[in-house]
Amino acid sequence: MAAGPPSNTVVLASGNPGKLRELQQVLGALHLNLLPQSQFNVPDVAETGLTFVENAIIKARAAAACTGLPAIADDSGLEVDALQGQPGIYSARYSGRGDAANNAKLLEALRGVEQIDRSARFQCVLVYMRHAEDPTPVICQGTWEGRILEDARGHEGFGYDPLFFVPEHHCSSAELDPGVKNRISHRAQASALLYEALRQRQ
Ligand code: IMP
Repeated sequence: MAAGPPSNTVVLASGNPGKLRELQQVLGALHLNLLPQSQFNVPDVAETGLTFVENAIIKARAAAACTGLPAIADDSGLEVDALQGQPGIYSARYSGRGDAANNAKLLEALRGVEQIDRSARFQCVLVYMRHAEDPTPVICQGTWEGRILEDARGHEGFGYDPLFFVPEHHCSSAELDPGVKNRISHRAQASALLYEALRQRQ
């Protein structure tokens, strides 16, 4: 009989290799065997929740159910105050036509809005579930405050980075050194909280 995965295996409910690498680094000291859900043929699941938390739980639950392993999932996006929190959970699908069109749509939606009213933040929720029926998932949220520029700046990062002004660094998140972004971003903050929560459980 083939041996199953080692007992410290956790499945990451994401197909993004960058996220896997980042989380492996942050959670490294916990000696978890973090594997992507692609290694288990977990099918994509519809993100039908209305909050980042619900969508992260939906993804983690599906990965845990399919693999029989503990699972981690994340959900993230951009909240713009002048747009009542949009694009929010719809950040990836805002225009339906990818990052460049999302950014163009956001600039258009904010046309004429004064600097002072262009406040926004990236949100990231990370969820850890011990199993698919886990009634108390670990839920960690990171928030990164900024505001939306009137023109794109910089070429690092992805998504809305060229439009997201980071006040402490006086530049857009696409102009930030990637190492700096990975230390201060919404995802970095949520990952650090998850590390601490899992460390306390060990
Ligand atoms: P997901 O959580 O990977 O599905 O990301 C949701 C969407 O939010 C992405 O497609 C981006 O549009 C946006 N987003 C999340 N995090 C970032 C970031 O760090 N920079 C830029 N855009 C982001």
